[in-house]
Amino acid sequence: MAHHTARRVTLARLPSGVAVETTIHTYTGEAGDDDGPTLYVQAAQHGREINGTEVLRRLHAHLLSADLSGRVVAVPVADPLTFDRVSYTTPEQLDAVHSNMNRVWPGDPDGTLHERMAATLWEYAKEADAVVDLHTGAPDMLTHVVFREGHDASRALAEAFGTDLLLGEPAGEEADVEWADRGFDGKFRVAASEAGIPAITPELAHNKQLVEPAIRAGCAGLRGVLRELGLFAGDPDAPGDRVLARNHLGRVPATDSGLYCPAPGAAVGQRVEEGDPLGTVYDPTTYEALQDVRADRDGLLYALTREATVTAGQALANVAILRE
Ligand SMILES: [Zn+2]
Repeated sequence: MAHHTARRVTLARLPSGVAVETTIHTYTGEAGDDDGPTLYVQAAQHGREINGTEVLRRLHAHLLSADLSGRVVAVPVADPLTFDRVSYTTPEQLDAVHSNMNRVWPGDPDGTLHERMAATLWEYAKEADAVVDLHTGAPDMLTHVVFREGHDASRALAEAFGTDLLLGEPAGEEADVEWADRGFDGKFRVAASEAGIPAITPELAHNKQLVEPAIRAGCAGLRGVLRELGLFAGDPDAPGDRVLARNHLGRVPATDSGLYCPAPGAAVGQRVEEGDPLGTVYDPTTYEALQDVRADRDGLLYALTREATVTAGQALANVAILRE
């Protein structure tokens, strides 16, 4: 039986004086804190990405009865501000500088609201031996795990999480200039790996909904990570048909606003070649075709929007470059 505590923690203070709080769960094996590794896992720093929150609720029951060799720190709602709005970002009234919490890590206790929230959680994360940041992508996206390309310990965690698709993402000096321009060095996973902590970002698919296959993939993934770290007994499951690909900043964007009609038969999971048709963006009033959408490179089509009303610049599809 693991020892469990649940603490309410104040992350920041709203203009009205109302505290932004969340609950931090800690599970400790019978041998105590000092024995064995610590896993820090959080969900819903993008508040509409709720499958990870449900994963942690289910893992809770499992952890309570587990023979745990170490410690698990779990935060089911990392950003209550976006959770309550079922949103990805906050409005400028709450954070005029950093609307996206996942661009500010490791945070700043004297900074903006999101920076303060991240700084509070970072106090827990920085003590960990591994970090898992549960996210949830679009409905039409393959469930996958992102890790820092070239960071072997993070890759091992990603493999233990065990989704069929692993995406390596370059970071720091190996990344494009655009990577830094978009603030990607402030991602939680990147900040953790910069601090020497192996870290992964599972993307479980289906935001705004609790979807059983995504939740089950998250639960199985965390059990694999716990075994990989030695917190649970046993070895991670043997890998299945695994695909390793490279996450890149390029995506196939809408070049104009309109209605996007995907090409018949286009579906996530397909191998595509540069130039393969992915659909058309139309002007809904004149029926004029505004964009002949095509794959921008050879690779694996791992996300394709089904939200047909699109605005210029929005990603219509994502193609990852196959590595293995
Ligand atoms: Zn997210």
